[in-house]
Amino acid sequence: MSEIICPHCHTLAMRGANVCVGCQAEVVYGSTFGEMKQGAIFGAVIFIIVEALILSGLDISFEFNYYLFGAAVGAFIGFFLAARAHDGSTRFFRVYHRK
Ligand SMILES: [Zn+2]
Repeated sequence: MSEIICPHCHTLAMRGANVCVGCQAEVVYGSTFGEMKQGAIFGAVIFIIVEALILSGLDISFEFNYYLFGAAVGAFIGFFLAARAHDGSTRFFRVYHRK
């Protein structure tokens, strides 16, 4: 088992730990769900824009299902890319508690 060092408090932690024992920072391996969700939304928006441009260029009349399909494909690709973006990386998210 390899060791990882918290960038916030420089405490040594074992790979696999979910929380830093030194500062309670959350240890995240790979992408967070929030990042993947953002990727999915971003992908869906991009696909709808690209699709709208292509469809209007081809003079194809508006069909809601086309956009629904495009958004689904874009969301899937965006989600996948976001999931891969931090593949193999370990990050510490420090939680600052309000007083
Ligand atoms: Zn720490």
